[in-house]
Amino acid sequence: MKKLAKGLLLVIVLLLLASLWMFWPVRLPVAELQSDLGLPPAAPPPSLTLYRLPTGAMHSQAMFAYRGGAVGEPRDFAMTAYLVRHPRGDLLIDTGLGSQVDQQFARLPWLMRHTSRYSTAQPAGQQLAQAGIEPEKLAGVLLTHAHWDHVSGLTDLPGATVWLSASEEQFVAGGAEMAALASSLTNPQWRSFKFDDGPYLGYPRSHDWWGDGSVVVVPAAGHTPGSVHVFVNLPDGGRYLFVGDTVWQREAVERPAERPWLAQRLVDNDAAQVRAQISLLAALQRRFPELIIVPAHDARPAEALPLLVYPSAGE
Ligand SMILES: [Zn+2]
Repeated sequence: MKKLAKGLLLVIVLLLLASLWMFWPVRLPVAELQSDLGLPPAAPPPSLTLYRLPTGAMHSQAMFAYRGGAVGEPRDFAMTAYLVRHPRGDLLIDTGLGSQVDQQFARLPWLMRHTSRYSTAQPAGQQLAQAGIEPEKLAGVLLTHAHWDHVSGLTDLPGATVWLSASEEQFVAGGAEMAALASSLTNPQWRSFKFDDGPYLGYPRSHDWWGDGSVVVVPAAGHTPGSVHVFVNLPDGGRYLFVGDTVWQREAVERPAERPWLAQRLVDNDAAQVRAQISLLAALQRRFPELIIVPAHDARPAEALPLLVYPSAGE
């Protein structure tokens, strides 16, 4: 009996130590930026507009979002798509949760299903329809990465062109479990782009989507092999940076801090690359406080953006 009690105590102590190690609020270093690095010029057309399309939320806790998050503090992970309306075309950044989310969720790995709970709002496809935007007329859906919660709404966008980085296209084609939903979707037309433009704000390469500096995509491998970040520069001088799931919540950039180990193991392809990306984001935020960094699952930084459609009274 004494032996059993001793064993039990040892297990409890080990579990406690493991939790302490995993959730201890370790801060990451802030990257060194070139001393003369300034915000690149941008000439967005005056009619360019940026909208947010909330499609739901995952209900979690701050402690799971970043190291140092408060224990027991409820935290919503927003599922939001963004739409850039440019005179040359409408570009949707990610899709958020679509109308088939229940069936999609049921096919996720056991651990993910048992650690997540979600609620839904109007899918992006419906919001676009209400605004008179047909999916096949979009310039495309630009994915920050191909995880299920970013492609879920593609089922409501038949005929849309979906843009990925070349490495993310390989990730989807390679049959990775984390890209299973994306690779099972047959209705969108998948296309990849190249980072054919020069360095941009600390990133080694870039792709200037419209050639006027309004939408600039940069490689940000780590969370997935072909993750990207998207700069959107507005005509009023507003500068947004959509960082997908490199971080889940803005505190991860402010501190800076990575995800707790267990979350990394579940979702990140390369934790060291993610750490380097977070250190760069933290440096950019310190150098350019006016840059609004928007994690895909944090609604707070982009709250000031207009909605594409406003719910009618009673909804
Ligand atoms: Zn995500």
